[in-house]
Amino acid sequence: MSRVALVTGGTRGIGAAIAIALKDNGYKVAANYAGNDEKAKAFEAVTGIPVFKWDVSSYTACVEGIAQVEAALGPVDILVNNAGITRDAMFHKMTPEQWGEVISTNLSGLFNMTHPLWSGMRDRSFGRVINISSINGQKGQMGQVNYSAAKAGDLGFTKALAQEGAAKNITVNAICPGYIATEMVRAIPEKVLNERILPQIPVGRLGEPEEIARIVVFLASDQAGFITGSTISANGGQFFV
Ligand code: NDP
Repeated sequence: MSRVALVTGGTRGIGAAIAIALKDNGYKVAANYAGNDEKAKAFEAVTGIPVFKWDVSSYTACVEGIAQVEAALGPVDILVNNAGITRDAMFHKMTPEQWGEVISTNLSGLFNMTHPLWSGMRDRSFGRVINISSINGQKGQMGQVNYSAAKAGDLGFTKALAQEGAAKNITVNAICPGYIATEMVRAIPEKVLNERILPQIPVGRLGEPEEIARIVVFLASDQAGFITGSTISANGGQFFV
């Protein structure tokens, strides 16, 4: 019987690559998204992966969305908390709204998604929670005080929850991607990308979404059962913890 995986923000970018890789490895997969219906429907048509729309920053929306996914596919065994946003601004110009949206989506989203699934994972004595954090949560990034704080919070969430899940065969891990070629990064002006960002990456290129997806597939597997509370960096040598 194939396990069920749910990927938040699974219709575009890194999340889409993760959803496809999990499906290719035999999992039953559902992909959540926030509002880009056109992209989501196109993704569903091409991949055959069912898509479900809700906002991970709302606890009640997560509870309702998860219920729909479980009614369609069965209990969720693997949760990939990938949905994320940026609302960049220098701190002196950052608005409370920019702060709040990023914290609600990128940090509270992990609570909102994981909490409703946790009891089921405990009851079944199996679970995998894989959180997509960021290099900028590890090192901090100017213009991203909100994002860096949320992504660093994701790492604390991962380490604490891993300790609670361990006795129940639930692993909780985080991946910290560096710069990956997705729309989030393509939104950076080309001059900034070429002159400021690429020179900081020792391998001399952006990462590909599939390079993150392959780590997720490994962490989701039975072979990764001894890895929990870990942070795996994938950043082309840009930053070492
Ligand atoms: P994209 O912007 O390409 O895709 C984001 C996805 O998340 C979309 O499917 C989007 O849905 C969904 N989403 C956004 N907000 C919500 C929400 N509130 N509720 C549900 N779904 C939501 O992002 P990336 O693929 O670039 O990034 C994926 C993750 O990886 C993020 O957590 C990001 O912070 C992290 N990351 C990315 C890096 C990069 O270089 N790209 C580097 C390090 C970390 P919709 O299409 O409907 O908007």
